[in-house]
Amino acid sequence: MGYTIKSDIVVPNGYVYNVSALQPGFHQIHMHSTGNPTASVQNERDYLAGHFPEANYTHLVGITNGEVDIRQVMNTNGGAWDLGGDWNWETYAAIEFSEGSIKSQADFNKAYPAYIWLARYLAKQAGITYTIDNLNTIGIKSHNYASATGHGSDHVDPIPFLAKWGVSRDKFNRDLVNGIAEQKEENKTKTKTKKVVLKDMLLFKSDVDTNFGSKNNVYLSDNGVVIRIDSTSSLRELQKDGVPYATLTKKNTESIINALGGLK
Ligand SMILES: [Zn+2]
Repeated sequence: MGYTIKSDIVVPNGYVYNVSALQPGFHQIHMHSTGNPTASVQNERDYLAGHFPEANYTHLVGITNGEVDIRQVMNTNGGAWDLGGDWNWETYAAIEFSEGSIKSQADFNKAYPAYIWLARYLAKQAGITYTIDNLNTIGIKSHNYASATGHGSDHVDPIPFLAKWGVSRDKFNRDLVNGIAEQKEENKTKTKTKKVVLKDMLLFKSDVDTNFGSKNNVYLSDNGVVIRIDSTSSLRELQKDGVPYATLTKKNTESIINALGGLK
């Protein structure tokens, strides 16, 4: 996983699902941009907190203080009032690209791969195919396409916003279906070069010394950084994403520390 999704939920859990009396089964990821040229990611989040009964969505992507900012602002898998048409009842997730957070081409180039990554990540999570803008119920849909086919309002986002920064509709569609190759390469390089160092291992050992043997925790050496995974489902998710790891036991942790010159 190349990015972190920050949980910043401002809409009550199951709000749309309950108010609209929906049935389970949400088959689409919806791609939007906010259309507000001045609002930051935080501004959009704050606005949603006060206005979610009018319209809503599940995620924001943009740039905050020079860094990619991915926020989840509403729970997934429950519909959303994001399109203004009958496909609102198919929303597993609705992603808004924060137009106002993008001040330069460099900002856009940094945030756009995150926007694509998030769509594919959520599609995978929901078991939704990587297809874009067709009339099948299941798939990824732009607001533009939903509107053009009678399933949304009259909004045309995010196509003009993407075009303004040099991404054509064709490229956008290709990226959603195939992913962005540069990203994968970058992650691979990192994996090859980073090493576990003694400091990481000693910190790790002192943190979990008493917990070894618990069946509820699996300890991983991920990309050189030792992390603790609290459930087998998140472990499976990481494995599916191809995160390299090794399961650590008390014995091999101590031998790694010794090999690195520690534990005198
Ligand atoms: Zn939209």
